[in-house]
Amino acid sequence: MELTNINTVKDLLNRNGFSFSKALGQNFLINPSVCPRIAENGGCHKGSAAIEIGTGIGVLTKELALRCDKVIAVEIDERLKPILDETLADFDNIEIVFADVLKTDLNTLIREKLGEYEDIYVCANLPYYITSPVIMKLLEERLPVRAVTVMVQKEAADRLCAKVGTRECGAVTVAVNYYSVPELLFRVNRGSFMPSPNVDSAVIRLDIGGKTKYNVSDEKLFFRIVRASFSQRRKQMLNPLSAALGMEKTELSEILVQCGIKPTARPEELKMEEFVALCERISAK
Ligand code: SAM
Repeated sequence: MELTNINTVKDLLNRNGFSFSKALGQNFLINPSVCPRIAENGGCHKGSAAIEIGTGIGVLTKELALRCDKVIAVEIDERLKPILDETLADFDNIEIVFADVLKTDLNTLIREKLGEYEDIYVCANLPYYITSPVIMKLLEERLPVRAVTVMVQKEAADRLCAKVGTRECGAVTVAVNYYSVPELLFRVNRGSFMPSPNVDSAVIRLDIGGKTKYNVSDEKLFFRIVRASFSQRRKQMLNPLSAALGMEKTELSEILVQCGIKPTARPEELKMEEFVALCERISAK
């Protein structure tokens, strides 16, 4: 069944009485070139396994299953079950778990269902209402996966793949760079989806090369510092940071200077190494 043919998809959905849920971010891909590119850029190959988040009618699931030995997909909407039974009937290497990905213990899922695989890749066209929480969950839980390749809203892609130390950078940019090497792969226009959203999209890949490049002795403190510093993105970080950490501004100013950071610095001016140095200096206090 051609899952990127509009008439086929309409017929499939009508027959099953399915209506799109805006709240669940249901914009299904109908551009035939996009899913193969996600699967290929995502690293899928024979002998590997893939995890997908949000199957929709299975258009990407199918491309992953053609290239990987096994696919585990997490989908929240059980109304899609009869549809997926039909669209993925020819595959015996796909397992769909109907659950909310944000409430799913992915480490346990991987251990139980993909225990024998060394090469595991996450590939997804993410529901946009939970882009950041899903990406942070995938990274923070330190899943044994090689890379996360996901479609997100274009503006989110620009933020996630911005260079740390530039105007486009935010707290999430620092977090993503802490755990991975992000790369913007390609843009996808809004006409590639059914229904068409009001925004364009882009596919990004986060390479997780095993150990993180940055070593901090207290990760919780590191992310408190990052979040507090960016809470007023365009402003000097001294005020919000001293408030969040309960430190006198004079003391914090001295620490910033010791780390080679101007006390008047704005968070978007700092490099990764400076956030790391700041965290280490504050935790040693
Ligand atoms: N992969 C399909 C495609 O590319 O056409 C569907 C992508 S659509 C943007 C997002 C999918 O994620 C929908 O099928 C939606 O039901 C599902 N979804 C939304 N929230 C979810 C959640 N919390 N956990 C798992 N799946 C979710």
